[in-house]
Amino acid sequence: MNLDDIKCSFCGKSRKDVSKLISGPKVYICNECVTVCNNLLLKEDFNKSISKYKPITIYNELEKYVIGQNQAKKYLSVAIYNHYKRLDSQKNGASKNIELTKGNILLIGPTGTGKTLLVETLAQKLDVPLAIGDATTLTEAGYVGEDVESLIKNLYQSTDGDIEKTGRGIIFIDEIDKLAKRGSSSNNGRDVSGEGVQQALLKLLEGKTITFSPNNSKLRKSKNIKVDTTNILFILSGSFNSIEEIVKRRIGNKGMGFGATVKHEEEDKNLLRSKIQNQDLFKYGMIPEFMGRVPIIVTVDDLTVDNLEEILWKPKNSLIAQYKKMFSLENIELVFAKDSLREIAEESYKRKMGARGLKAIMEDIMLDIMYEIPSMEKVHKCIVDKMVVKQRTMPHIEYKAKVS
Ligand code: ADP
Repeated sequence: MNLDDIKCSFCGKSRKDVSKLISGPKVYICNECVTVCNNLLLKEDFNKSISKYKPITIYNELEKYVIGQNQAKKYLSVAIYNHYKRLDSQKNGASKNIELTKGNILLIGPTGTGKTLLVETLAQKLDVPLAIGDATTLTEAGYVGEDVESLIKNLYQSTDGDIEKTGRGIIFIDEIDKLAKRGSSSNNGRDVSGEGVQQALLKLLEGKTITFSPNNSKLRKSKNIKVDTTNILFILSGSFNSIEEIVKRRIGNKGMGFGATVKHEEEDKNLLRSKIQNQDLFKYGMIPEFMGRVPIIVTVDDLTVDNLEEILWKPKNSLIAQYKKMFSLENIELVFAKDSLREIAEESYKRKMGARGLKAIMEDIMLDIMYEIPSMEKVHKCIVDKMVVKQRTMPHIEYKAKVS
């Protein structure tokens, strides 16, 4: 038999029309059909892997990486579960009578408290593509800067050009509060009309189809990609500084238990933040049409000193674990005394940068010793205690006992 006469048993294409034809006992399959089968299997895997995550499982996964923020973890677990359940029900035609609306999410709370980390962890655990954008770099079409379509393009590129996967992904846009209208009570407005960008984003949130040409060389073959944004989950995030004052003005002291039961200013703020409603966000400068597309508001709390201390050592891949690992590569045991962690947490708390302060302080404490230790001999242990942190002195060094 002439080799060119062999055909794929599935699609019928002949040997010369495809780049590979794999033979089995009396059957052939071409590379294109293998890809189709692969995609089908992957899709099944995806549905299986998502459905194995119930809200409780999602919460427990978040718990491994994110300290505190229990209420936010709970809201997000339910919201994410519902989102993918809704996609499932659409596919199975199970929601013919009642249409479930998409639950885009607005995450509100101070900087450095885990908003991005929550979303990154969710996307990673659920194995869905994630694109992270920053509202301050977005501009209306026609202005210099990134237009909102670029967010979809980034998501598409993160999937290596898989349109289906892109359509089920998550887009996270930080600093959304910086799009507040000028002249609103926030005074947070920006030069290029933030309101205009809110309008431009509406198009995505409304589920329009976005068309763009990929500029990634790997994907150059396919022209004009069309992505339907209907099922993409948008998680918007911002610190919304001082929004608590707007809430306070609205509700007054009614039912808040101010003074007597609330010990700290942060608790006051956390409580007020948890009561944010759409009307407060309108006052802040978000436009009603925009908020209408983001039905779920989730707030995160200021981190306490206890939270900061836990963040240092508890999460998988914590800062302390990373430093210990680095030292172990030099065969040195790195020890942080309990009081040193407390001291770092307290210093970080004063900086008011959330957990971001921890990293800066750790680098400050560890730089000199990290510089010197690879050249030091016979070191066995390196100990950081409270005074090392407080006075920024060198950690204590213990040497290996001489073997005679
Ligand atoms: P946000 O998005 O709220 O400004 P991020 O999530 O980017 O803050 O946090 C910055 C870094 O601080 C993260 O990479 C993480 O290491 C750490 N971090 C912040 N909050 C937490 C938290 N609640 N639990 C654990 N780590 C945290």
